[in-house]
Amino acid sequence: MKKKFAIIGAGIAGLTLANLIKKKTEHKFMLYERQESLSLDQGYGIQLSTNSTKILNILGFSKLNSEKIFHPKSVDFYDIQNKKICELDLSRFNTKENKYTTLQRSTLIEFLKDDIYTEHLRFGKSIKEVSEIKGKILLKFDDNTNDLVDIVVGADGIFSNTRSFFEKKKNEPKFQKAIAIRKILTSKSELKIDEEKISIIMGKNCHLVVYPINKKKELNLVCIIRDKKYDPNNIKYLIDQVGKQNSIFGKILNQDLKSWPLYSTSKIYPSTNNKVFYIGDAFNGFLPTLAQGAGQSIESAYELFNLIKKDSQADIQNIYFKTRLKRAEIVKRRSKINFFIFHFSSSIMQLIRNFFMKFLIKRKSFIKSYLGTVYKN
Ligand SMILES: Cc1cc2nc3c(=O)[nH]c(=O)nc-3n(C[C@H](O)[C@H](O)[C@H](O)COP(=O)(O)OP(=O)(O)OC[C@H]3O[C@@H](n4cnc5c(N)ncnc54)[C@H](O)[C@@H]3O)c2cc1C
Repeated sequence: MKKKFAIIGAGIAGLTLANLIKKKTEHKFMLYERQESLSLDQGYGIQLSTNSTKILNILGFSKLNSEKIFHPKSVDFYDIQNKKICELDLSRFNTKENKYTTLQRSTLIEFLKDDIYTEHLRFGKSIKEVSEIKGKILLKFDDNTNDLVDIVVGADGIFSNTRSFFEKKKNEPKFQKAIAIRKILTSKSELKIDEEKISIIMGKNCHLVVYPINKKKELNLVCIIRDKKYDPNNIKYLIDQVGKQNSIFGKILNQDLKSWPLYSTSKIYPSTNNKVFYIGDAFNGFLPTLAQGAGQSIESAYELFNLIKKDSQADIQNIYFKTRLKRAEIVKRRSKINFFIFHFSSSIMQLIRNFFMKFLIKRKSFIKSYLGTVYKN
């Protein structure tokens, strides 16, 4: 039976689900976005491991202009003095069709919006009120329009407002006492790194990640710095702390920066309404230290799509929550471990960490269980 869906939020999760419904089912849907346009912020890179590129390829991602993406073959780990510690081969997780991919977030959003934009996307929409009428959900928006639907999908990010309308217990995102700073490096940087790889540079209370986002040799740089509270006026001081460890970073991070506080979800709560689902960061927001936020948004959309495409009488809500929770817990644990070990302040701990990293990275069985389970290798 054809159903009608309202997807709230046109980020990576909402747009992926919209594409899957549009291209692979007969269901009807509308995507409601609070902003007046899609956020196509140029300066924001994203890494997609094979678990997500495999799903995007169902939607034709492999046909994307290859100049706009990059396939880094490995991750180089450095200490803050730019001394290489070890290297992780990423190509072992690749297949001919599905490859680890880096790109600008805007490139991914442009790709996902193509088939949805005109007919299925409404901007400037925020829910004002919800009610249930004869087994359906009536959504009223603050511009006095409404929609009567069978299923509501909350894809409105880590601070999901959809949850406030349907749940007593909301996921409470927690500030992780760290901030992220981003920048695009356009010219050949002074860093002694291989610009065709992903570089992770670990310092005291901070780490930097640099990777190519297209074939034009543009690099995305993100620096995560620990700080007890987020104060935009304190950024200069924090950058100075990084600069003291390596003056080149101090220089690079000096201008054209964007910064924001890092939040993640501490406890994941299920939906209490069997007509309401949560995907992407609205289900669970992760720390960025395993680069899986977008990947898990895509996966969660695909898991839900697989359950709704069949006209089954099964308890979809329960199946979806259990499967997603299991996956989210795996990613959450590893993101937390990485967050912990990337930032050691004591030099003894850094030496011990570097020793274990060199040792473990060569162990195929360890890499398979630590990353293979995430990348679905
Ligand atoms: C520093 C940093 C680096 C990252 N790097 C990576 C990476 O390399 N790889 C990776 O996979 N992930 C990365 N991520 C995470 C990734 O960006 C997110 O996890 C992902 O974008 C979440 O997608 P989403 O669609 O669930 O939510 P969002 O992208 O937050 O989209 C939610 C959408 O809903 C809209 N919205 C919000 N409220 C409402 C409302 N009330 N009504 C209607 N619409 C609403 C918003 O405007 C937005 O368009 C990173 C995150 C950070 C912070």
